[in-house]
Amino acid sequence: MTQEGKLPTWKTEMKELAPGVYAYIQAVGGWFISNFGLVVGEDYAVVIDSLTSPKLTEIQLAEIKKVTTKPVRYLINTHEHGDHIWGNHLFTDAAIISTVKCREAVMKEPEIADLSLYSKVVPQIDFTGSRNTAADITFDKELTIWQDGRKGREIRLITGDTGHTPGDLIVYLPREKIVFAGDLLFYRCTPLCFVGSVIGWTNWLDILLSLDANTFVPGHGPVCGKEGVVAEREYFTLIYNEGRKRFDKGMSASDAVKDIDLGPFKEWGNWRRISANMERLYHEFSGDTTPIEIPSLVKELFAPDQP
Ligand SMILES: [Zn+2]
Repeated sequence: MTQEGKLPTWKTEMKELAPGVYAYIQAVGGWFISNFGLVVGEDYAVVIDSLTSPKLTEIQLAEIKKVTTKPVRYLINTHEHGDHIWGNHLFTDAAIISTVKCREAVMKEPEIADLSLYSKVVPQIDFTGSRNTAADITFDKELTIWQDGRKGREIRLITGDTGHTPGDLIVYLPREKIVFAGDLLFYRCTPLCFVGSVIGWTNWLDILLSLDANTFVPGHGPVCGKEGVVAEREYFTLIYNEGRKRFDKGMSASDAVKDIDLGPFKEWGNWRRISANMERLYHEFSGDTTPIEIPSLVKELFAPDQP
């Protein structure tokens, strides 16, 4: 963990994880500041997630060009959220792949992303031109890209039950033992569960831990090993157990948020996301599957990190 009172930091950088396999990690992983993956083969490249705006996606395309001149044939979207798809339309020659449920969620949104709320609460990001572009190819359960044919690399896309969102997928490279986890993994920054399921997400973390893999690329935060997955699982276990006790006593979700000691997780970025996560948990405890509306929690969620 970090020194007391100091929020974790890391550099924005492109990291080569294995020959031809890269993760671009953005400091410091807060609202709309996400990572992307790049898998370069002999004939073409595969990209995992676009970024949140044309401006950031232009930077993404420039970073990709520094590594390879191969065309991007496939752009994989790990889930429906803007910070992973709003720059899709800049990948003009790529076929976009997502799960069926992710595409359904994107199609419910207007094509020009509704930025009225976010440009107010995250004014440091210029969202101009952000678009909801839905996938060209969808799948349910599992899909494999066999990059470079017979001798090539296996890029396995796996979906499952609702975790961070109903349509999550992970990208697993079995030979390289690398997982691009999308927002099913946040490391050193607090996960956010408002359209997902805390229980389902915890199950997903067990799936991640069961894979023969030793390198995990989170949607937000630095690259880690299994310890990153374990840490996030501990976070959810803590809020589940502490939340359940208070729910059973009849305490409200907002009072539970004030009452629960997050311990070491108070040092993770955006720790105030506990308010959305606890709302979600309370819904789950009472069997309610409707998503949490972020606008109702804006005040708590976007307050500065330091207490
Ligand atoms: Zn994200």
